[in-house]
Order: sequence, then C-alpha cells, then structure tokens
Amino acid sequence: LLQMFQPLSFLGVMYRQIKQSMTDVERMFTLLHSPKEVEDAPDARPLAVAGGEVKFEHVSFAYNADRPILHDLSFTIPAGKTVAAVGASGAGKSTLARLLFRFYDVNQGGIRIDGQDIRHISQDSLRAAIGVVPQDTVLFNDSIYYNIAYGRPDATRDEVIAAARAAHILNFIEILPQGWDTVVGERGLKLSGGEKQRVAIARTLLKNPVILILDEATSALDTKTEKAIQAELLEIARSRTSLIIAHRLSTVVEADEILVMDAGRIVERGRHPELLAKDGLYAHMWALQQQAEEETA
Ligand code: ADP
Ligand code: MG
Repeated sequence: LLQMFQPLSFLGVMYRQIKQSMTDVERMFTLLHSPKEVEDAPDARPLAVAGGEVKFEHVSFAYNADRPILHDLSFTIPAGKTVAAVGASGAGKSTLARLLFRFYDVNQGGIRIDGQDIRHISQDSLRAAIGVVPQDTVLFNDSIYYNIAYGRPDATRDEVIAAARAAHILNFIEILPQGWDTVVGERGLKLSGGEKQRVAIARTLLKNPVILILDEATSALDTKTEKAIQAELLEIARSRTSLIIAHRLSTVVEADEILVMDAGRIVERGRHPELLAKDGLYAHMWALQQQAEEETA
C-alpha cells in the first residue's frame, strides 16, 4: 500500500507546483509525458489559423533512438474534415496525437497546420487551437467547476453548465452534496474513469477548438453513455478538423479517411466501404467487432 501511496503523494505535490505556473491544462500532460520539454524556437510565431488543415509529411519518430515507433507516415486532414486512426494497441495511434500537440518533436519529416511547421509556432498558440480528449484524463485538485471551466477560463457559468450537460456529467455534479464546488482529483473526490472522461469531454466542448483530437475518448464509458455522448462528439467533429482515434470501429464509419495502423505504419487507408471491399486487416477487424457485438446483444 505504501508503494502505491508514495507516487500518488508525489504527484499531488507536483500538481500543486505545476498548477501555479500553468496557462493551459494540457501542459500538465506535457510535463507528465515528456522527459524533456519541447521549447519554443527563438523566432516562434503564433499560429495563423486559416481553416485548420493538418498535414503529416513523411513523419518518423522514436521515443528512444533504439526503438523506432512511427515509420514515414504521411496524411492530410483537410480543413474541417475527419481522419480516423485505427489499429491494435501499440500501433502508434496515440503517438500521432502527442506529436500533433507537440509533446515531442518528430525525428524526420514534419507536421504542418495551415502550412506552418509546428516547430516554428509558439506552443501556447498551438495548444490554444487544439482540443484533446485523451485516453486518461488527469484532474486538478480543485473544484469540478474549475476542472471544466479550464477548457476556456473566460466562459460564463451558463456555458460551463451547458458543456457539462452535453457531456452527460451535469446530473452527476448536481446531486453531489457540494455540487459544483466539490473538490475532485487525487486529494478530493476520486472520479471513475468514465466520469473523468466526461469531464474531459465537457472541457473540450467548452474550449471549442479549431482542431479536435479524440483519443479513444469514450473507451471508459458504458455502452449506453458512450452511444449518447458519441453523437455529441461526432457533431462537434463535423464542423472542425478532427483526428479520431477509435477502438470501436462503428464510430469511424463516417470518417473522410480511415488510416489503419500496424506497428507504426499505415497499412491500409480509405473510406469505410473501400476498406471493407479490400477484405484486408480493416475488414477483418470489422468482422470481429460485429461478431462481438452480436454476442453481447
Ligand atoms: P496506441 O495508441 O496505438 O496503442 P501508442 O502510440 O500509445 O500506441 O504507442 C506506440 C508504441 O510506443 C508502443 O509500443 C508504446 O509502448 C510506445 N510508447 C508509448 N509511449 C512511450 C513513451 N513515453 N516512451 C517510450 N515508449 C512509448
Ligand atoms: Mg493509444
């Protein structure tokens, strides 16, 4: 038990320290995920957003030099369109999201937003333009109101409430004895994976970013809540540039392009019907999921 507790209390101390200086909630992920922080170039400029086109050009990447993870990946998400990445766990899907958010710099190739290499733009402006619903959400040791309002600190109370409602977390909050003032996080009320995920979704709905990344954003939810929120998420994805990483293929059927990843490579790509017709890895994954869903039904 002590072994479990020590890293947690260390994190608690770290959260409080980080919180003092933080301008953006996602910076916490940077600090937690990356050993050395990516720095702004001396001549870094703010991102000039046109439509929000995202381009990966011959991107290769390794967390450690001796183990390459991504191999020469190229794809474009045209402004306002949706690209989905699917594939087995460990294929490198979340790494795409981390690179776009610039937790790490690519080793080869480049990533551009509206033509601007993200290494040449300020991180603040990059992260202001991108909203992420990650696989695992880290909460501040602060009120649940603060945790959602962080998505856009100048939002009105009504906007925060609307975001919570859309993320299906409003009822949960309202029946807590302390309501919106309930302190959550490691030192407060510990939320379940699904509750944390809904807080992250509310935050992102409130942020209303130009570019949206959903990284298995509903994986911790029960099927019924997932279906309900899925509709909200797909709705916000429709009107902006979106990268959707999905464990459940039914959520990517409508994507403008689906990238099927395996061991850091794109092994198939196309729209859902094209990929089914290919009768390859995607078609196989689809058949397995259909079968599993029929068995549970
Ligand atoms: P996916 O999201 O498709 O499950 P990831 O992009 O998270 O896969 O991971 C791809 C590979 O990179 C995995 O083999 C994983 O172990 C490795 N990896 C992920 N994060 C790190 C890290 N911080 N340091 C070293 N290796 C990592
Ligand atoms: Mg992942």
